[in-house]
Amino acid sequence: MIKDISNLQAKLEELLITQQNLKTQGHVADYIPALAEVSPTLMGISVATVDGKVFGAGDDKIPFSIQSISKIFGLVMAMNRIGDDLWQRVNMEPSGQPFNSIIQLEWEKGIPRNPVINAGALLIADVLASHFSASKLAFLSFMRSLSGDNNIYIDNHVYQSELSHGSRNAALAYLMKSFGNIEAEIPDVLSHYFTQCSISMNCQQLATSLLFLANKGIDPRTKNSICTPRDTHRVNAILSTSGMYDQSGEFAFSVGLPAKSGVGGGVVAVVPNYGVICAWSPPLNKYGNSIIGTNLVLGIAEELGLSIYH
Ligand code: GLN
Repeated sequence: MIKDISNLQAKLEELLITQQNLKTQGHVADYIPALAEVSPTLMGISVATVDGKVFGAGDDKIPFSIQSISKIFGLVMAMNRIGDDLWQRVNMEPSGQPFNSIIQLEWEKGIPRNPVINAGALLIADVLASHFSASKLAFLSFMRSLSGDNNIYIDNHVYQSELSHGSRNAALAYLMKSFGNIEAEIPDVLSHYFTQCSISMNCQQLATSLLFLANKGIDPRTKNSICTPRDTHRVNAILSTSGMYDQSGEFAFSVGLPAKSGVGGGVVAVVPNYGVICAWSPPLNKYGNSIIGTNLVLGIAEELGLSIYH
């Protein structure tokens, strides 16, 4: 039973204070140089509910690079576009490897373990680049309509930085192409993938954009169907088992919510039938997950009794 607390706003502010002394832990992602330019001391949290409330504290209105959180939206677009054929080309198992690992991909003949590790997201980027005449624009429009904000933008500085430091992602894409699992030209696949990773959004916008996952696929504000109830279940299942990469087991153990992180420091967590939490703080742990972001989601999940495993 989710606790109905009237002072959620104050609770979020209190939670941020508990994290102040952890600001020096972890490292901001620097393998994408543009991400290393972000101040490590920023932190924010937002909670959006399916009944239309939005709470936020700290730097919750400062845009950051959504990075791998974009993989959720790409997955939904690909599922809507090609249906169950998608699952011939990508699996739905946890990888037990770092998010950008290449080792498993050769053993498993170019079929990525799941859609939210980099190999899987590149596969999805191929689906989108191959099935939309302007996939990058389609992606940006999708984000703008879900967040209800036409000012959401692609950060070109981050995009260029990813493009010029993208050898590992290129290697993953070429390896999949060698197995016949990529249709489009690799530069087009990479360009789509880096574009979606380079979108900037703030905690409030991200939490609001994902409300459909907490509401059986229906955007509670517009009543539009974003994906089917069955696919909503599937996305949440993948986020529960793989969304926090090789820390997904520990996250399920301690928090118990479908979630996704990005190396920009964002963490989103879906609370079915209730709402979405988005926390942000740039320094990451060894899994590439935000240290404080994860703590903040844990704090609010414990406070309100949000785990889906209760
Ligand atoms: N753009 C990043 C990469 O390809 C995304 C990784 C992440 O956020 N975990 O490495």
